[in-house]
Amino acid sequence: MDLQAFQKEGHRLLDWITRYLGELERYPVLARSKPGQVRASFPSSPPGEGEPLPRILEDVERLIVPGLTHWNHPGFFAYFSISASAPGILGELLAAAFNVNGMLWKTSPVATELEAVTLDWLRQMLGLPPGLFGVIQDTASASTLVALAAAREAVPGLEARRRGLVGQARLRMYASEEAHSSVEKAGLVLGIGQEGLRKIPVDGAFRMDPAALARAIGEDRRAGWTPFAVTATVGTTSTTSIDPVPRVAEICAGEGLWLHVDAAYGGAAAVLPERRSVLAGCERADSLVMNPHKWLFVPIDLSVLYTRKPEVLRAAFSLVPDYLRTPEDAVAPNLMDYGVSLGRRFRALKLWMVLRAFGQEGIADRIREHIRLAALFRSWVEADPGFEVAAPSPFSLVCFRARFPGATPEEGDRRNEALLDAVNASGEAYLSHTKLGGRTTLRLAIGNIRTEERHVRRAWDLLREAARTGRG
Ligand code: PLP
Repeated sequence: MDLQAFQKEGHRLLDWITRYLGELERYPVLARSKPGQVRASFPSSPPGEGEPLPRILEDVERLIVPGLTHWNHPGFFAYFSISASAPGILGELLAAAFNVNGMLWKTSPVATELEAVTLDWLRQMLGLPPGLFGVIQDTASASTLVALAAAREAVPGLEARRRGLVGQARLRMYASEEAHSSVEKAGLVLGIGQEGLRKIPVDGAFRMDPAALARAIGEDRRAGWTPFAVTATVGTTSTTSIDPVPRVAEICAGEGLWLHVDAAYGGAAAVLPERRSVLAGCERADSLVMNPHKWLFVPIDLSVLYTRKPEVLRAAFSLVPDYLRTPEDAVAPNLMDYGVSLGRRFRALKLWMVLRAFGQEGIADRIREHIRLAALFRSWVEADPGFEVAAPSPFSLVCFRARFPGATPEEGDRRNEALLDAVNASGEAYLSHTKLGGRTTLRLAIGNIRTEERHVRRAWDLLREAARTGRG
């Protein structure tokens, strides 16, 4: 493809994207494809000869779009609603154009140094203490894996790096029953095993019970385990509950355990001066993850891992063959030393573009509006006798369910599931569910940059209508 053709097709594609973003509401937010249907619409063997780009782009509309669930749709309220802002999209485009691999400082100095600059800006925006080292990972799952690998590395006398874990101390780590599955998954990868994660009970507001944590650590020590890490969550996945980090930090300090904080979703709220307290106690954490791709309008993927102990991360991960040595090794960081992968995308570029385009105040305004919309939705649920809220809403997620008087709990669950299916089939809104106390619970998560009050209102109307139908 010559550059002229690139320019022409590039403009066409950008025009198409512009139209797409402007007309998102024309599409059903949740894809209507059946399993296997998309695949069957593609040829089963690769194209022999190259095809002209216009033809390929036509197939984007014809073959790709029908199989999309539109995460950028303003009616997307499922999971944690995430969205790509326009500056973030352009940042991705630019990163692909540069196509640098930031594995070493030398392989693209700006990739390493812009990462340091943007992560220090973000640290300040979140009110975290100076001196934290930040490194970008793809996802929070990777950040937590890397953090817990560092925690394992920090266990005195363990030598996991040299000897592996066989025949060594039985390690145990802790997280609440509501912690994200990525903590358990990190345990699988690190040889801690599922038994090596002890899940701590939560209180009525789904927050880790610190007294139960302290008791569990004591019991485990007596039973011959070696406790080594606690993951506390600021904004759990099911309900966005906030573990009592200051108290957990005290326990970790007293017991000599690594404290990792999962603020993948909730951390973003600390950009608001009036919400900075959500990260109270996190200044004492050994590591903390927050995901700009969740609630900071940066396109997926971009997760940030902060740590007070970068030397421990390095000790866990640095492995430098001869062909990767450079004269600058002693004076400049090589970010391959702080995670699993060698190659690294230039993710800091899109974060830099988003932070500059919105500014701290622009981001805070949008997050504040999402919190307002969630409070408004919650007030509607509370005022309607046909519904009930199921958990506190410290951020912009509301957990609730429809009431079906006279129905058994199982029947109530089934009807709530049917209600959810009906709303999601409308194409105008997409919500997801969780289980709380064994009961099916609906979640309305607000976080999409394009969501306005009218979209939340429409979702509520759809929910009420579906509940009415479900009650017969
Ligand atoms: N931690 C929390 C609290 C989450 O809610 C999630 C995902 O929603 C994760 C971690 C995992 O995030 P990722 O998809 O970036 O691995």
